[in-house]
Amino acid sequence: MGTVVLKAGREKSLQRRHPWIFSGAIDGVLGQVRPGETVEVRTKDGRVFGYGAYSPHSQITVRMWTFDPEEQVDHDFFHHRIRRAIDLRRPLIAGDDVTAYRLVHAESDGLPGVTIDRYGEYLACQFTTAGAEHWRHTIVEALGESTHAGGVYERSDVDVRRKEGLRERSGLLTGKEPPELVEIREGSVRYLVNIQGGHKTGFYLDQRENRTFVARFAAETEFLNCFSYTGGFGVAALAAGARHVTQIDSSGPALDISRKNIETNHLDPDRVDHVDGNVFQVLRRYREEGRRFDVVVLDPPKFADAKGHVQKAGRGYKDINLLGFTLLRQGGMLFTFSCSGNMEPALFQKIVADAALDAGRHAQVIGRLSQASDHPVALNFPEGAYLQGLACRVW
Ligand code: SAH
Repeated sequence: MGTVVLKAGREKSLQRRHPWIFSGAIDGVLGQVRPGETVEVRTKDGRVFGYGAYSPHSQITVRMWTFDPEEQVDHDFFHHRIRRAIDLRRPLIAGDDVTAYRLVHAESDGLPGVTIDRYGEYLACQFTTAGAEHWRHTIVEALGESTHAGGVYERSDVDVRRKEGLRERSGLLTGKEPPELVEIREGSVRYLVNIQGGHKTGFYLDQRENRTFVARFAAETEFLNCFSYTGGFGVAALAAGARHVTQIDSSGPALDISRKNIETNHLDPDRVDHVDGNVFQVLRRYREEGRRFDVVVLDPPKFADAKGHVQKAGRGYKDINLLGFTLLRQGGMLFTFSCSGNMEPALFQKIVADAALDAGRHAQVIGRLSQASDHPVALNFPEGAYLQGLACRVW
């Protein structure tokens, strides 16, 4: 096994068990190590921290698998980590009420670069790092032993793989091919998921608990769901008794699935409008037309990809939130989200507060929302927290 030797004084983050080692912290590499292989990590004076995956093409040159110098990284290691992740989910996913959830959430489940989502009898995997790629077959084997999934499908078609020197890849790994649309359940609501071609691994599982929360405010409302994707919040709202739902998204195929979701749940299609358009423009048009809603959901894509983009992203969040507040009736609810991990919660709240002020609305925060509990955040890896939301009541 090769060895990565740290520069003097650069072991601080490892002492805090942060799993990433940046190239600048490395003094040298001993031995011949290929991308993805396991390396021992130690200080210059010989103190061993544990073992990690070597990724010479990435700025993050090593991602730690374990901080226990006694632990071996092998089939059993992956088997145990996956079992531990499954055990954590057991109390979170009650009975067979919820059939889709995240089974492995990368670093926060001790498996950097490994994302595994369950959709009924199918698993969707994403391997985003050289280390995850190296152990891919072992991981799939371990999944087979502990989940008895009918089919395991790979969705490693994400551009972050390029930073690791990997090409994008997707396709069936084992078992049977999932159908074009797989039906899943979240409580009494059903959703159709395109595992092969949908966003992420097919569905925004991270919003599951928030869909349930938002639905509590939906009865008898005119409900506006911005950045709806396949309808998520809007379908849950209609099932909870919303009078009318408007789904806005710029993806035609996503809206087609939303229509099918309405049908699958035997909901009245006459109570739903699907608007294929740009939220920034559609909301401006609604403002001009004087339209008003009781509930507005804003769940945009990631506006800030990197730390340097936070300011520009802030303008985007401010703009849609201002429009959102403007379109609300007195007593209405705004559910506003950011999935930009770089956006500090205090800054996000300030942006939302400024938007309310500019819209001339008074509002109070009645709930702070985050990614669902099957997307945990390891305390040694605060970067794992990326989704935040505010539930605001206008009064
Ligand atoms: N709320 C969804 C997830 C939203 S993801 C859920 O719970 O499932 C963000 C969505 O925004 C994507 O579906 C994408 O197609 C859409 N999108 C991105 N930019 C947009 C824009 N300017 N106007 C409308 N939709 C947009």
